[in-house]
Amino acid sequence: MRLDQHIASSSELSRKDARRAVMGGRVSVNGTRCKSARAQVSEHDQVMLDDRLLTLPGDLYLMMNKPAGVISATRDSNQPTALDLLPADMARHVHIAGRLDKDTTGLLLLTSDGQWSHQITSPRRDCPKTYQIRLAEPLSEDARLRLAQGVLLNGEDKPTQPARVVVSSETTIEMTIREGRYHQVKRMLAAVGNHVEALHRLSIGSIVLDDTLTPGQYRALTAEEVDSVR
Ligand code: URA
Repeated sequence: MRLDQHIASSSELSRKDARRAVMGGRVSVNGTRCKSARAQVSEHDQVMLDDRLLTLPGDLYLMMNKPAGVISATRDSNQPTALDLLPADMARHVHIAGRLDKDTTGLLLLTSDGQWSHQITSPRRDCPKTYQIRLAEPLSEDARLRLAQGVLLNGEDKPTQPARVVVSSETTIEMTIREGRYHQVKRMLAAVGNHVEALHRLSIGSIVLDDTLTPGQYRALTAEEVDSVR
């Protein structure tokens, strides 16, 4: 990144003030004064402002128990978003890794690390996501088998990958899918003649929703949870 960007991210200075500081000779990189705000630096370079060592803030990795009624978007002037539930200075830095519908609840991951979120959302990565689903009708054995084989969604010509389905009660199932097509779970259940009444995400890969989080609460991921995705 550019030197002025590094300074603005690691101090209270704005980008403009960072440029002034560089031009005023207040900044050194690896012990040598640098007067070019455009100079390229990395997180491994030692950047000093006057006598102060500037360290870049680490990436943020959060899990949230998404409540119903908020949308999975960065900003929306009309509707509340999941990011509105975070302090503003945190919300500014993160994006959502794997969206949920407005009425879907449960595990939502938020991060400032674009490469990390790519591991979760990239179709090539096959990251498993498990949902708890309340159905309008009991799931027939035939429907269960069809979901487990993969079903053709309305308007598409390629069947879904096989889903793992565990029947918990007459109208409650857990289903694990590896893709992230538009409204995929609801459309898969519709394809087998059923209807999703309530949808709740339990896990993404080996990251499981912390059951101490009430709807709308969030916490930082542990180092193990972050590393499990890489
Ligand atoms: N599938 C859906 O249909 N909705 C979601 O929110 C997530 C997966």
